[in-house]
Amino acid sequence: MNLPISFEFFPPKTPEGAQKLRAVRQQLYARAPLFCSVTYGAGGSTQEGTFGTVREILAEGVDAASHFSCIGATRAGVREQLAQLKAMGVKRLVALRGDLPSGYGLGGEFHYASDLVAFIRAETGEDFHLEVAAYPEVHPQARSPEADLKAYVTKVRAGAHSAITQYFYSADAYFRFVDEARALGADIPVVPGIMPITSSTQLMRFSDACGAEIPRWIRLRLQAYGDDTASIKSFGLDVVTSLCEQLLRGGVPGLHFYTMNQSAATLEILRRLDAR
Ligand code: FAD
Repeated sequence: MNLPISFEFFPPKTPEGAQKLRAVRQQLYARAPLFCSVTYGAGGSTQEGTFGTVREILAEGVDAASHFSCIGATRAGVREQLAQLKAMGVKRLVALRGDLPSGYGLGGEFHYASDLVAFIRAETGEDFHLEVAAYPEVHPQARSPEADLKAYVTKVRAGAHSAITQYFYSADAYFRFVDEARALGADIPVVPGIMPITSSTQLMRFSDACGAEIPRWIRLRLQAYGDDTASIKSFGLDVVTSLCEQLLRGGVPGLHFYTMNQSAATLEILRRLDAR
């Protein structure tokens, strides 16, 4: 498989987690990723961990993207962080609104990711390659699918260079989203976000929170496996490899893996894709 791939990590919370992640990264670097990205906690709660992990990846000779969420941020604060990221040698950002703390409403100086994209462009021109989030199965807080698509197009017009999707298990949802966005003039590359399936409870918990749909047949099979983790992993590898195959056949511009700071499932999916 010679398409660009990228890997996403979250900032580890403990020194042991950081050590483990270093080993995971070395295993994944064997696949020569275009970049590795590091998530950013809402309200800047993980800024130190995010920037620290980004620094390590850059020092390992790999391009690193920092996620950057704007909810609750001020223009002055964002300006300062952009200067810091630039000084670190970061050239790629994933520009996000972030999840709203409950009861937050629309306070703050940035309301939507499109505000952040426009601000970064105005402040830093072309210094950063800007990724934005895309939701083939519709963002959970969107007023309607149409409003969500328009919000995506607004982010693209504000100056995003490419997009990474929320994960999904229906290739049709992805291709329809890309077609509809293109029809509205938003034709930047949309890289599908791939979530390997390694644990049933973890997947259900995440998916309920972020609005990604687990098709009924997958949910039922996972539930039926109970705590038989070997069967869950084996089934998950089959399902996700088959999804990637459909996406590759349809001409996706790359694959972005939500690694959950693990390497085994991602590497096995890539190995199977190589063997196609
Ligand atoms: P937006 O694009 O601003 O959209 C948010 C909602 O507002 C949508 O419902 C949209 O339809 C609506 N909307 C947008 N513009 C308008 C408008 N003008 N008028 C009315 N409604 C509008 N979260 C983190 O906290 N940290 C991370 O590191 C992180 N990384 C992510 C990476 C990817 C690839 C993805 C897909 C998601 C990530 N998230 C992360 C989750 C993300 O922060 C949440 O999904 C968040 O709720 C929305 O962020 P957004 O940037 O997509 O927001």
